Amino acid sequence: MLHFLTGFAILPVGILLWNLAFGAASANILEFEYYLTTLLVAPGLAAGVTLAWLNRRRPRWCFEQNGPRWMQRVHPGVWAGILTQICAAGAILLADSWLPDGMLTAAGALPATIAVFLLLSPVRPGHCLHCDYDLCQSLGFGRCPECGQAIEAGLTAHA
Ligand SMILES: [Zn+2]
Repeated sequence: MLHFLTGFAILPVGILLWNLAFGAASANILEFEYYLTTLLVAPGLAAGVTLAWLNRRRPRWCFEQNGPRWMQRVHPGVWAGILTQICAAGAILLADSWLPDGMLTAAGALPATIAVFLLLSPVRPGHCLHCDYDLCQSLGFGRCPECGQAIEAGLTAHA
């Protein structure tokens, strides 16, 4: 989850830093707070809550304790972050005069997070939690033949 949010934050933090360096946000702190809330805090909260809820119902392999390595955990967040900015831009174009921008960017995070979540592989009973290798033939070995993860730790979580 932390990895997802890290990935999610990369684009908004990049935009904020760019604004700080070259744009209007450097002019005053109120504007900076506005950007921070609109680009990062509101959609980040919406994405985090949505993801936690979805992952409770249908656990995804890449969010497991013994799941994949750092990069594989972060990249769904990066994609969700990019999609969120696109959806949010659409929402702002459509409804800018009725709702505050923070609410629209948060709303943009919902379809983006759900779409990315649906593309992630679910936890599969009988598969290694570390590398997703099918362990049906290898239960006797006690370790995953692919990555060496102990099977007891890897298998039982959602089997
Ligand atoms: Zn494995």
